[in-house]
Amino acid sequence: MTNLFDYDREGLEAYFVDAGHKPFRARQVMKWIFHRNQLDFDAMTDLSRDLRAWLREDANLALPEIVERFESTDGTIKWLVRVGNGNSVETVLIPERGRNTLCVSSQVGCVLDCSFCATGKQGFNGNLSTAEIIGQLLLANAELKARGEAVTNVVLMGMGEPLLNFDAVVRATNLMTDDLAYGISKRRVTISTAGVVPAIYELAKVTDVSLAISLHAPNDALRSELVPINRKYGIAELITACNHYIGNLGEKRTLTMEYTLMKGVNDGLEHARELADLLRHVRCKINLIPFNPFPASGYVRPDVSAVRRFQTVLLNAGFATMLRTTRGEDISAACGQLIGKVQDRTKRQTRYLARVRAEELA
Ligand code: SAH
Repeated sequence: MTNLFDYDREGLEAYFVDAGHKPFRARQVMKWIFHRNQLDFDAMTDLSRDLRAWLREDANLALPEIVERFESTDGTIKWLVRVGNGNSVETVLIPERGRNTLCVSSQVGCVLDCSFCATGKQGFNGNLSTAEIIGQLLLANAELKARGEAVTNVVLMGMGEPLLNFDAVVRATNLMTDDLAYGISKRRVTISTAGVVPAIYELAKVTDVSLAISLHAPNDALRSELVPINRKYGIAELITACNHYIGNLGEKRTLTMEYTLMKGVNDGLEHARELADLLRHVRCKINLIPFNPFPASGYVRPDVSAVRRFQTVLLNAGFATMLRTTRGEDISAACGQLIGKVQDRTKRQTRYLARVRAEELA
């Protein structure tokens, strides 16, 4: 069985052509699926009877199932979604005035193990398929439909490192921006990366969706401590790759630099100044994220005043600098709090749970 949700338009055309059908069948089927919400091949009445019968035999439209739904007092909704092999991932819908942002997962767990992120502590099981990524959008839209709304912005900032699941993520973002599917503007679809430098160059060849970089530190010594992949691809290399990607965007578009603020770690005024200096030749805006706690993290969120002082340095240096408001914290749906249910293939989850238990007993 071929799950048609694993294809973008190009892939679906190839699927039909390989079976001896006309490529325009892809357009017809995509319209049924994404515009008319029709997942039953038999109801796709502009396809011939034979073609429908063949699709029934050869293909399906399988989506991940919802295990549980959580709703925050601030309106944020989090779903735990079942994917293959006993794993679940989390998806978060953040309604704001005039827009609905969906935070989508791309992997079951994450291999990168950034020191301050709960997802890394769960270890890793594998990649999500395109169907499992796009399925998260489908279920959020199903919920929003009742309000006459839809997802307007997608950020690949859920569980996992999107650029380590490159092909499935690119196909999913192709569907998000394709008029025959979701038709969301490429500015409003953002891939976030901890800095997989070679994949940033590859990405520039195939798409121009928005890109966010999880920077978190202004120098290699500190960044290597927080974001271990920095030991492989240092800041200088990362900035060069960023400028390459920006060259691929229109003149008015910018990159986003994400910076999670942790008290006494990277939130000093000297860090802010060093950051401003580092980014002075990068067309970017800066998103400050006050640290969101999780058990046995070892980090603390800075006071509001410290966050404001940090922001002011960057604003004065001429950077558009936003403070990301924490959303969905009461349902553990905030940045860095997503854990899902990972059948860990590393030893990391066990070690982490032992630390949590030790802290509870202490
Ligand atoms: N792996 C990708 C996608 C995850 S994005 C990436 O690193 O960009 C999740 C964002 O939340 C990243 O910017 C991450 O650094 C940030 N984050 C992780 N843990 C956090 C925490 N505990 N508090 C606040 N932000 C956190």
